[in-house]
Amino acid sequence: MYIFGPVPSRRLGLSLGVDPLLSKSCNLNCIYCELGRSFKLVTERKLFVPTADIVKEIKEFLDKGGETDFITVSGSGEPTLALNLGELITAIRAITDKKIAVITNGVLLSDPQVRRELCLADVVLPSMDSFTKETYIKINRPHGSINIEKVTEGLRAFAQEFKGGIWLEIMIVKGINDNDEEMKRAKEVLDTIPGIKSIQLNTVVRSRAESYAEPVSDETLKRLASILGPRAEVIGKFRNGVIHTIDSVESAILDALKRRPMTAQEFEQSMGMKRQQVEHSLQKLMERGEVERDDFNGKEFFKIKL
Ligand code: SF4
Repeated sequence: MYIFGPVPSRRLGLSLGVDPLLSKSCNLNCIYCELGRSFKLVTERKLFVPTADIVKEIKEFLDKGGETDFITVSGSGEPTLALNLGELITAIRAITDKKIAVITNGVLLSDPQVRRELCLADVVLPSMDSFTKETYIKINRPHGSINIEKVTEGLRAFAQEFKGGIWLEIMIVKGINDNDEEMKRAKEVLDTIPGIKSIQLNTVVRSRAESYAEPVSDETLKRLASILGPRAEVIGKFRNGVIHTIDSVESAILDALKRRPMTAQEFEQSMGMKRQQVEHSLQKLMERGEVERDDFNGKEFFKIKL
């Protein structure tokens, strides 16, 4: 399967994930990566999966009446490593008018060809966890050929060329980039890139490559966001179909229910969560009077309480 979800997401609404890679392939080895360590870093773009095979699955999903707000190219690693990224976006565009997003670590934005291909999307979500060399190396552990100045210049060039939305993600790791100096440096750079529409602060996922990659509190995220200014917001983390904080689970459930009633099983499948977690969040939302149960056709649905 090259598609997954759709996943309810606070950032993208309902998002159908598309994976153009076969197994973990990345040019970084982030300490917080939920896919585990990158044992061999990949720096060259190549064809992993034929475009037609991926598009066939998307078409089947849509033909069966599958609902989604976004089709999001992300998957098991860095999607810009897929040589057919541009071709894939064009082919998806040919079969649907759904919005297309790409989640990227931003390393290959320094490549003009990659930027041209990303320009075919509606929204691009690059990540940049630090704008200082030492911290970038500590968190993202890049391939030796990657340097932070080049990555930053790639981001700057892309922000000038891209007409769609750029939502930059900064992943905050406790004790590494959770200090004011890091955020002030990020602000200094990001203030010179007005093309970035939103700066989204996240913290570490449940499963991660290194156990020392620890999350920070919501208060810390809010404090750091305030340093970055009005474009910055704190957002619950989800990537590769997994929602990671109770707060973001509840928000994602609410977002999804604004579109249609859903069963606990549907949440379980689309969010990659345990049933107990879904039920716990639904229970809390019902106690707060935000959600109510609605039995229909022998099934137990949940919907927004009006
Ligand atoms: S978090 Fe993303 S960019 Fe970092 S190693 Fe994992 S797949 Fe690559």
